[in-house]
Amino acid sequence: MIPYGKHSIFPEDIEAVTKVLQDGFLTQGEQTPLFEKAVSNYTGARYGVACNSGTSGLHIACLAAGVSRGDLVWTVPNSFAASANCARYCGADVDFVDIDPLTRNLSVSALEDKLKVAIKNRRLPKLLIVVHFAGSSCDMAAIAKLTTPLGIALIEDAAHALGGKDSEGNKVGACKYSLMSVLSFHPVKSITSAEGGMVVTNDEKVATLLCRYRSHGISRGPHLFEEAHLDEPWFYAQYELGFNYRLSDLHAVLGLSQLNRLDEFVSLRRGLAQRYNTLLDSLPVKKPIFDENSAWHLYMIEVPEHDRKRVFNQMRERGVGVNVHYIPIHLHPYYRNLGFKVGQFPNAEQYYSHALTLPLYPSLKQEEQHFVVSQLEEILL
Ligand SMILES: *Cc1c(COP(=O)(O)O)cnc(C)c1O
Repeated sequence: MIPYGKHSIFPEDIEAVTKVLQDGFLTQGEQTPLFEKAVSNYTGARYGVACNSGTSGLHIACLAAGVSRGDLVWTVPNSFAASANCARYCGADVDFVDIDPLTRNLSVSALEDKLKVAIKNRRLPKLLIVVHFAGSSCDMAAIAKLTTPLGIALIEDAAHALGGKDSEGNKVGACKYSLMSVLSFHPVKSITSAEGGMVVTNDEKVATLLCRYRSHGISRGPHLFEEAHLDEPWFYAQYELGFNYRLSDLHAVLGLSQLNRLDEFVSLRRGLAQRYNTLLDSLPVKKPIFDENSAWHLYMIEVPEHDRKRVFNQMRERGVGVNVHYIPIHLHPYYRNLGFKVGQFPNAEQYYSHALTLPLYPSLKQEEQHFVVSQLEEILL
């Protein structure tokens, strides 16, 4: 089976992990700070705080943004559940902004309309979490223009988009328009640390809070201590109810080693996506817009709704591991139990009913790509 996504591990990755296993600290050593520095240098943000998953990164990002019980957080329905769950972990209410059917990202005009209603009802969100779907950046400048004057914080769920840029050429994760960006290093993402994630930010106070929430709410920093404890070298203090969301040194060193190939991985993905766009030209499918700045995490086509199940099943039978991204978050039973209904976010629902994800990963061979397209052609024609 040709999978829809796959990591690429090289001998130097194995060597790097082995070296830490043999000589290094397994956790809380020097690899995690090195990885944080390397990723934040890459994206251009001042600080990076590594965590044991993208999901835990989203959780502490919400906490560091001050989200708590009774607050309102908005995100998009066309994403993985973690984009909304992170707000629920903090006890916040969640609502969604529909997507633009062309970019499949947050619709700026839907956001504008929803904000007008929220102003009238005096219930503005504290935070908006945008998702750079499939690796293609949202229009951050236009979004920030709407949210900043209203004091709404912006977090980028950039789990798909490390290695990509926005339309102005800013690297995803530079946090030019946002308070924080959250990355994932799950094996299907741009680079992998097996499990892992990172929150990047330019805000020093936010970075300090993120570090504490990641590790039990505890700090050993002497600058935080009252004078009385300065001669007590054993002293530490817990300031918040934090978690153990630390990334181990084994995971960090794998991520650090993978980072050397990030641009190469993205460029291979981009080349394959461009090829799909050409190869699929004569087929009755809707292709994604070619965004040359995308990190090309996923490649989705849209097929006629009545045909999606048949195409999906036949592709799987023929050894092509197609997938579907995403079941709109508000349609999951957990969110329906909170009151969400079919028909509330029609663009995300429409997109979902047509969507089919084709295999895309750096080591996908041209022959395999031809095989995928020829199977699709036989099934559709
Ligand atoms: C992968 C992903 C996450 C979560 O990342 P993990 O590292 O798997 O926890 C969050 N949001 C989106 C959009 C993702 O694709």
